[in-house]
Amino acid sequence: MNLYYDLHIHSCLSPCADELMTPKNICSMASLKGLDLIALTDHNSAGNVRIAEKAAMEEGILFLPGIEICTQEEVHLLAYFDSCDACEEMGAYCYEYLPHIQNKPDFFGEQVYIGENNLPCRYEERLLISALTLSLEEVVQKVRSLGGVAVPAHIYRGNGIMTMLGFIPPQIGFTVVEIKAGEIPPAGLRSITSSDAHELGAIAERKYKLNATNTREEVLAYLSY
Ligand SMILES: [Zn+2]
Ligand SMILES: [Zn+2]
Repeated sequence: MNLYYDLHIHSCLSPCADELMTPKNICSMASLKGLDLIALTDHNSAGNVRIAEKAAMEEGILFLPGIEICTQEEVHLLAYFDSCDACEEMGAYCYEYLPHIQNKPDFFGEQVYIGENNLPCRYEERLLISALTLSLEEVVQKVRSLGGVAVPAHIYRGNGIMTMLGFIPPQIGFTVVEIKAGEIPPAGLRSITSSDAHELGAIAERKYKLNATNTREEVLAYLSY
């Protein structure tokens, strides 16, 4: 079956995202737009995925827990998991290798954890958008050890793997990359296109689809074969 998706969405935990990007608001908007499948991919953190999973379930949307990781090479990498447990474990691992730089909310924006009531419950004080002190290969290895799938993000744009490295390291064995509409993936690779939404209106329309049954396992398989 075709699943209309948006697999790259930032919540208000990402400093650069709008404060209205609560998991509940994101899921309501995704539902209005007729999406079947979404992922939450905050910068270097899984702090809002569990609450987003619940909100997505309430809207009847398939939810994939994710993180957008910034590697030592300043490459943005999307990581998707089959459970919030695995995603949160990856989040904790990222946090260990996240430089101790204070967020400056006035400059970067607040980093907001959302609680059960759709309201802020706590603020992250360490800046989440820094590059981890982990190489691309180390990050991919950890993602895979947790059963996750790694997909290079917006490969031809700022912090994209093609922009930062100039090529896709073949030994890592990526099979899928994220590109923007109208771009062409490197030979031999399949692609997905998502919104990278930082505000509600930017969440994808019912436009990008992938062929998989309505389960996390199938979607992860689609992203990794
Ligand atoms: Zn990015
Ligand atoms: Zn992003």
